[in-house]
Amino acid sequence: MTESFSGRIDKLRSLLDEAECVLIGGGSGLSSAAGLTYSGQRFTENFGDFIKKYGMSDMYSAGFYPFKTQEEKWAYWSRHILLNRRLPPALPLYRRLFELVKDKDFFVVTTNVDAQFYKAGFATERIFAVQGDYGKLQCAKGCHDELYDNEDLVRKMAAEQKDCRIPSALIPKCPVCGKDMEVNIRKDAYFVQDKAWYEAERRYEIFCREARDRKLLLLELGVGYNTPTIIRFPFEAMTYKNKDAVLVRINAQYPGAMSRKRQKDAFFCRGYKRRVESDGLTHRCRPRCIRKRRKNAKRQSVSHVMRKRKPECLRSYPSGGRGNKIKKSQPPKHVYYVH
Ligand SMILES: [Zn+2]
Repeated sequence: MTESFSGRIDKLRSLLDEAECVLIGGGSGLSSAAGLTYSGQRFTENFGDFIKKYGMSDMYSAGFYPFKTQEEKWAYWSRHILLNRRLPPALPLYRRLFELVKDKDFFVVTTNVDAQFYKAGFATERIFAVQGDYGKLQCAKGCHDELYDNEDLVRKMAAEQKDCRIPSALIPKCPVCGKDMEVNIRKDAYFVQDKAWYEAERRYEIFCREARDRKLLLLELGVGYNTPTIIRFPFEAMTYKNKDAVLVRINAQYPGAMSRKRQKDAFFCRGYKRRVESDGLTHRCRPRCIRKRRKNAKRQSVSHVMRKRKPECLRSYPSGGRGNKIKKSQPPKHVYYVH
């Protein structure tokens, strides 16, 4: 990249002005940049007792801690939800983002579960929060597809907990099967996708389909390689497919600049490995192992759903099979990286 940072910002401004529609992809890096960091001082100041008792290192890994009792689990989670979902108002970064696109035909797809897009003013019908919402509860075994607002309960749990435990009387139980409840975030095969989830997915599909022949600006913000099949890879695929699409990737860790040659094989198993290594990443997260994990999933996961009925934007997504390769005659696409 030879342009100066301010030059790239100016370019982004003009791309935004020229775009007929804008698709925003929000990842965890966006909320982190907005102030919802999961480690460091923010973690140690709020979870000193849990760090001492369980040796936790940050809120992300703590979310997978195998608590032995429901009292301990909900003591942690009520505080986590309060801190990241209930207490923060719309953060300035999200509010400024909304100001930038509010007069455009836009749509948001996000893996974030902190509801910041909703709080900042983005209309509900223009958001697809693929991975759930901290603010809702579901049956831990997904016995039915209804979600329950958890605000009152979470505030009570956080207020009444002692020694990293909540009173047993506050433990939520599934109103249908009577078993444990869980936060509605995708962390196992029992994640519940309710009616509103499927409606949001449908609106996202329609937006992507209609954007195929329009001047589309894809704004990919803070999306890494945790779940790249949800935003990162589809955004790259959409950039290939639409000659008028421009992808702007803003990412502190994985700007992932694609050369024209690498661009051609970026989506294929063998090529993907080369690309990951050439980007200097240390992990070896390849589509092959992602597919293997998916195969083992018992119930709905996003991959499971997409395999059954891929969203429009992914239906033409190259999977590496014969005949799926991108034609050499395709014109190079414009991809800008800001980091
Ligand atoms: Zn149940």
